[in-house]
Amino acid sequence: MKHIGKLILIALILVSSCKEQQTQPTKVSISKETLENAQPIEKTEPPHWWTGFKNQELQLLIKHPNVGDTETVEIFSDQVELKQTHKADSPNYLFLDLEIAENAQPEEFNIVFTLADGTEFIESYELKPREKKADEYIGFNSSDAIYLITPDRFANANPSNDSFDYLNETGIDRSDNYARHGGDIEGITNHLDYIKDLGFTAIWPCPLLTNDMPSSSYHGYAITDYYQVDPRFGTLHEYQTLGEELRKRGMKLVMDQVANHCGLGHWWMQDLPFKDWVNFQDNYLQNQSQWDNSKVITSNHVRTANQDIYASNTDKKLMSDGWFVSGMPDLNQRNPFMAKYLIQNSIWWIETLGLGGIRQDTYPYPDKDFMSAWAGAIMTEYPNFNIVGEEWSTNPLLIAYWQEGHDNHDGYKSNLPSTMDFAMQEQLVSGLKNPETWGTGLKEIYVALANDFSYANPQRIMAFPDNHDMSRIFTQLEGDITNTKMALSYLATIPRIFQMYYGTEILMDDFEKPGDHGLIRTDFPGGWEGDAVNAFTGENLEASKKDMQEFIKKLVNFRKSSEAIHTGKTMHFGPEDNTYLLARYNEDETVVHILNKNEEPFDLELDRFKELGLDGKTLKNVFTGETVTWTENLTLDKKGSYLFTTKL
Ligand code: CA
Repeated sequence: MKHIGKLILIALILVSSCKEQQTQPTKVSISKETLENAQPIEKTEPPHWWTGFKNQELQLLIKHPNVGDTETVEIFSDQVELKQTHKADSPNYLFLDLEIAENAQPEEFNIVFTLADGTEFIESYELKPREKKADEYIGFNSSDAIYLITPDRFANANPSNDSFDYLNETGIDRSDNYARHGGDIEGITNHLDYIKDLGFTAIWPCPLLTNDMPSSSYHGYAITDYYQVDPRFGTLHEYQTLGEELRKRGMKLVMDQVANHCGLGHWWMQDLPFKDWVNFQDNYLQNQSQWDNSKVITSNHVRTANQDIYASNTDKKLMSDGWFVSGMPDLNQRNPFMAKYLIQNSIWWIETLGLGGIRQDTYPYPDKDFMSAWAGAIMTEYPNFNIVGEEWSTNPLLIAYWQEGHDNHDGYKSNLPSTMDFAMQEQLVSGLKNPETWGTGLKEIYVALANDFSYANPQRIMAFPDNHDMSRIFTQLEGDITNTKMALSYLATIPRIFQMYYGTEILMDDFEKPGDHGLIRTDFPGGWEGDAVNAFTGENLEASKKDMQEFIKKLVNFRKSSEAIHTGKTMHFGPEDNTYLLARYNEDETVVHILNKNEEPFDLELDRFKELGLDGKTLKNVFTGETVTWTENLTLDKKGSYLFTTKL
């Protein structure tokens, strides 16, 4: 739809040799000649926008050969004002600062760029209506259990999208753990009922945007187009359908985003807008013709440099500006155009997919002031949303630093609501494996939770047994099913958001080569036509794996129904006699979780737990359905986790 022949108010700006100039509104109509002859702009990002945001500003990245030579920019809309244009270092970019009127109506309007020689380019830009109000975007919280998926490895619903000749990495090879296997978005959508039956209320698929890289592109973290769904995963429409199908089931879609780095194959790496678009860019440009990995300046991965009062500037700079790995250029978020680009990109996806949260990759690696601004911009626009940042640290001090509300020594104000509990993950595994001594075993787990005093909001931290970058929990616990169940039930009960990686429910492992990323991300059986085992239906699935599925189903569905777990108070008692008791409670319910390491039947004396006020009460064992009366003793018949509720 074009506004042919319509007389409208436009904002006209003359682009002079200086980089920025103020707006000069005037009234003209777009000529028929322009509409017929102007070349369409090659790329505009964001590709469209919406009306009705709190922040009425929008910055467009315009990419077109020589668009930087534009003399005038005309906006054919009475609702959109051009505030400024900015030339880039490359002649093939122009950035436009627009302001959208407060009560603007959805519309499509033209932007015309005129060069000195009279050449005209045109962009037809759309402002869409927003589908729901900003405060209706409810982010995941402690009532949620999130199922993490590596999309390439979950289910292949559509073999016709497995490979595209125009992309750098072609073909699929399921025998190669680092090749594409063909899993796709539709494969996830088709199995949402399976995930829901397990009790999960949200999914977090690893990034689904295009990774046009020469190899190992399946994992998704080397994004080469921030506005495009990787065609091997499906279409934008399929991604949107995934979001809709989740919402129909009362579930949330969490998008995995990456602000720190892109993939080396990103389209802008061929023609960078600014001299400082990525960090250590000179080094890249010098070696661009024949890429040499040894010339890349990579991060020192000294994540403590963000907080360390003794850290050298050298270490700090290398930490945040070094490339994550040689194939992933480090984005310079101190460049204000890059900063706006990333913030708008996140908002674009929240609106486009109706997101129920964002998981932000490698949180301590980008410029930390930018991360605060990024999270702040999103949380201001969507007050009930949620974002979890990946700080892979087992040190609670570092985890605490990044969470909103923490009183930081350097005055850093984070706007990030949720962080990840790598500390608990490590202590839990260690505590389950280690013998019971005065300081090891269950005591390690107890002490790990006791660290919650240092967090601004423990309940908004995400706990997990493992993830897509870690050895599988079953492998970490050396193939011990009981220990695996103990780990899972503890994590599902403590005051946290609970996250579990796909396949944990069927004891997926990486024993063959522990920690190997390709192996961790093994295909989910039944996701491919002809699979001998189908874990979705249970066909040919081993008894021990079926048993684990049932365990997860009971555990996570119970968690889903228990407000005491979602929002209740917490009390735990120091481990004694190889047992550790933790309770979650509110006015209506008390949930009691016991980790018991006694192999033989053991009578747990309950006198020590009087504070819980359970004397004489009847409790139900969540896993067996049996009831017990809370009197003098509780018999624990074997090693394992015990989960009781006063809600019968
Ligand atoms: Ca496929």
